[in-house]
Amino acid sequence: MNADPLEIQKFSELAHRWWDPTSEFKPLHEINPLRLEWINARAALSGKKVIDIGCGGGILTESMARKGADATGIDLSDKALKVADLHSLESGVQVRYELIAAEDMAAREAGQYDVVTCMEMLEHVPDPGAIVKAAATLVKPGGQVFFSTINRNPKAYLYAVVGAEYLLRMLPKGTHDYGKFITPSELAQFVRAAGLQVDGLKGMTYNPLTKIYSLNQDTSVNYLVACSRPL
Ligand code: SAH
Repeated sequence: MNADPLEIQKFSELAHRWWDPTSEFKPLHEINPLRLEWINARAALSGKKVIDIGCGGGILTESMARKGADATGIDLSDKALKVADLHSLESGVQVRYELIAAEDMAAREAGQYDVVTCMEMLEHVPDPGAIVKAAATLVKPGGQVFFSTINRNPKAYLYAVVGAEYLLRMLPKGTHDYGKFITPSELAQFVRAAGLQVDGLKGMTYNPLTKIYSLNQDTSVNYLVACSRPL
């Protein structure tokens, strides 16, 4: 299976704190409005059938459902999914969560989604290209796919590993493995090999002084990619 058991365990152990905005998941809470608005501006989520691959506790999934999407979240961490499910019950937002691998979901529900999202997940899997391929299979012709991950270069190592995990302690040590980071051109190759086209690339930066995240043209550390499946 295309999953690293230690990665899944790492997220499972923290899962009970997923919706605590001061926890290890604080960065995901803080970037969520930015990525949500970016996706919504491109894909007009209301009424769309959406699947979120590697949804974790459902921060993005639930927010897309709030925008009116018919949202499904999949992950391989049972604990994260239970937290996601409980949270959606509590907030009264309807979301479907399921413990299933992206590749298996792609075999079962090929071509059924208007929008596929896969955020902050590719850098945790052994074969990211296979996840991109599954995303491309899940989306309808004419539909859109969004990825986000971390670039691989000395600055990304300094900011995403040394800065975030050791200096600022925003993330637990060992959250990210530099060797699994993915450059935008590598991701673009996976995307094209899966039959998708790249429509847009966006950088995301964090200013440690103001503690503010922003979307911009700086893709040197964190970045997002918008893709679509040709008709
Ligand atoms: N996408 C969410 C969570 C990111 S954390 C967000 O951005 O808010 C990374 C998530 O990927 C975790 O929930 C982890 O369990 C999941 N994950 C890691 N490897 C996976 C795999 N092979 N298949 C599915 N999910 C995986």
